[in-house]
Parts: sequence; C-alpha cells; structure tokens
Amino acid sequence: NSRWSLAGMTALVTGGTRGIGYAVVEELAELGAAVHTCSRNEAELNQRLQEWSSKGFSVTGSVCDISSRPQREQLMEKVSLIFSGKLNILINNVGTYILKPTTEYTTDDYSFLMATNLESCFHMSQLAHPLLKTSGVGSIVFISSVASLIHVYVGSIYSVAKGAINQLTKNLACEWAKDNIRTNCVAPSATKTSLVEDLLANKEFLDGVVSRTPLKRTAEANEIHLW
Ligand code: NDP
Repeated sequence: NSRWSLAGMTALVTGGTRGIGYAVVEELAELGAAVHTCSRNEAELNQRLQEWSSKGFSVTGSVCDISSRPQREQLMEKVSLIFSGKLNILINNVGTYILKPTTEYTTDDYSFLMATNLESCFHMSQLAHPLLKTSGVGSIVFISSVASLIHVYVGSIYSVAKGAINQLTKNLACEWAKDNIRTNCVAPSATKTSLVEDLLANKEFLDGVVSRTPLKRTAEANEIHLW
C-alpha cells in the first residue's frame, strides 16, 4: 500500500451530492476507498451514484436527513452492514446557514441550525466510534468554517455551531487517540458551492471576501483537502 492510497479503506461522507462533500467523495474514491454518502434528495443522489459507478468508483448512498436522530441511527446501521462493522474515515460535512440579524432568529431557526450543523456531527461521531475503533485505523474530519474563528456575514448561529465543532475536534482528538482514531477539522473560507451561490453573487460580499483573502479569490470545492 503506497502512502497515498486508500485501497481497502472505508469512508462515510455526509452530504456528498454537491459542493465540498461531492469533491471529498470523488477524492477518497479516486484514492481507492469504498465510500458511502448521503443526502436528502433521492433523485440527485441516484444520479451521482450512477456517475461515480461509470467512473469506476466504489460509492454507495442513502437518503438521510442528517438533522434527524433516528435517520442518523439508520444510516450508521446501514454503513455498518455494508462495511462489515469497520469504518476508517468519517467526514462530518453537512452544514448550512440562515443569514439574519441575531435579533430576528426564531426558536425554529436555532433548533434547525444546531441540529444540522452541530448535533449531527456530535451524534455521528458517537455512532461511528465503535466502527472506527474496530477498523484499527480511524480518522474523523469535521468541516468547520472560517466563521468559527472570525466574524463573517453568515449569521451568529452558524458561527456558534462551527466554533463548537473546533472544540469538539480537540476533545475527540484527545479522548479517542487511545483507540487509534485521529480527529481533525478543516475550516474553509468562501468556496464556490450551491450553499453560497447567492452570497457570492452579491458583489459587495464577494469583494469583501476577496480583499481579506491573500490568494485574492474564492476556493473551488476540490481545493478543500483533508490531509
Ligand atoms: P452545499 O449546500 O453546496 O452542499 C451540501 C451537501 O449536503 C449537499 O449534498 C446536500 O444535499 C447535503 N445536505 C444538506 N443538508 C443535509 C441534511 N440535513 N441531511 C443530509 N444531507 C444534507 O454545501 P457546501 O459544500 O458549501 O458545504 C459543506 C460544508 O462546508 C458545510 O458544513 C459548510 O458549512 C462548510 N463550509 C462551506 C463553505 C463555503 O463557502 N461553501 C465555507 C466554509 C465552510 P441535499 O440538500 O439534497 O440534502
């Protein structure tokens, strides 16, 4: 096995039909991993699975709303079945935002964003722990955001959830090292995906981002590398 091969490895990437998750599925599969992914839109998921299969990639998928606890449990049961109880890589990728002034957020906005962006990652890590441990070599990667570190105009709830993910990363890295599970997070800045299409179409927002970015441009999804 070369250092840059994932042959024989198994991976679960949440939210792999578009954007950063899509690019991550492709990269892991290209390196030889068997990958499982999920999203809420069955038609789009099936379309992606077909494309990957025609490229010769080993990718399976489930329809799953990652903000739902029972659906997360079902997803991990399926993953355990497909990968015979062994998972090497968990990419906690799903995340979204609602942009509002803090004074206008509703109780539902708060619950939805925290369930989708933070609780899902926490619970998926809990559910994956026995599989990651059994595999012998485990790795968890959270997709945080630059909004976890500085103020950017994506709303306070999103930023709070991403800040919590940074701390969760540190806790799990220390707690699960004994099980040979590494835990890391990646904190991208503005990346061209469906999530931020509207934001990046706003010239003032885009100019602000670019002026604060040394590369003077936004990122492509396949530039968000995980190792
Ligand atoms: P996109 O919205 O482009 O893609 C999100 C993917 O996740 C889709 O496949 C979507 O499919 C799926 N998804 C969304 N919600 C759920 C859900 N509840 N259950 C299951 N699947 C879901 O997002 P990005 O690729 O831009 O973002 C990925 C991660 O990167 C997020 O955590 C985001 O916060 C983070 N990030 C993004 C940045 C950016 O500029 N794009 C910058 C910094 C961080 P479907 O909708 O069909 O379910």
